[in-house]
Amino acid sequence: MAQQPAGTGALYIVATPIGNLGDISQRAIDVLKAADLIAAEDTRHSSRLTQHFGITTRLVSYHDFSSSAREDAILTELSAGRSVALISDAGTPLISDPGYSLVARARLLKVPVIPIPGACALTAALSAAGLPTDRFVFEGFPPHKQGARKQLFESLAAEQRTVIFYESPHRIADSLQDMRDVFGGQRLAVICRELTKTWETIHGDSLEALSLWIQADDNNRRGEFVVLIHGAPAPDQIGLQTEADRQLHILLEELPVKQAAALVAKITGLKKNALYKRALELDGTR
Ligand code: SAM
Repeated sequence: MAQQPAGTGALYIVATPIGNLGDISQRAIDVLKAADLIAAEDTRHSSRLTQHFGITTRLVSYHDFSSSAREDAILTELSAGRSVALISDAGTPLISDPGYSLVARARLLKVPVIPIPGACALTAALSAAGLPTDRFVFEGFPPHKQGARKQLFESLAAEQRTVIFYESPHRIADSLQDMRDVFGGQRLAVICRELTKTWETIHGDSLEALSLWIQADDNNRRGEFVVLIHGAPAPDQIGLQTEADRQLHILLEELPVKQAAALVAKITGLKKNALYKRALELDGTR
């Protein structure tokens, strides 16, 4: 096994692809082959992956509804010095996926927990959306019921960091409408659909326009989604920033980014560099 001396058990948290099988790492394949056991969210689903890569390690099921006896059995294997690799259906385990309780208990038992990093829809979306990445909040899936969903969005409406959600095809249209109603139609957002797959789409616009876009074509609602919402401006900047955004929107229709930013800096007195960055964001998400 990669890092552990023989006879020492370890729990490996192994990321698997979120669509494109080429995204699995060599290290992930090696660890899955060498492990004594693979704990998988759905063994039937994961057996397609293991077959594809010639991995013959025994798969056992482990998910959020697994009995505590199943979790105990995995911990017993680990305590006996065997190595277990945890995988989920796609991407990084524990990120809106099962595994938290197992990892927490393994660490309490002083079993080494070793991440094998790789694909994750959250980081893939953030890296390509063109929204600020220096600070962000990940909220997982919004609640299914509209009341609870709107309440959550309201609690995030003044959040200045980029806000990121996962969403399913069944709820994406309703969620976007609620986002538009609560965050405001002018707020910039980006939809990342089917990342790494054939129909990969990365589409940025105002929430008003995105909400219309998602309803315009059934195909736009197919697949898996990450939604990223631009953070709110700082309270003392709200009036000025809104006005600057309005001017940038108009000028970017006609002018290159640099010129539009320079003109808005002259009109508003805001910093040229900050406006240039903002203009790039607005331009990049069109
Ligand atoms: N653990 C996974 C990860 O690392 O991203 C996420 C698992 S969560 C149960 C599944 C959700 O992740 C999907 O409903 C969707 O919101 C998002 N997702 C997964 N794969 C995706 C993809 N290829 N493109 C866009 N979103 C994806």
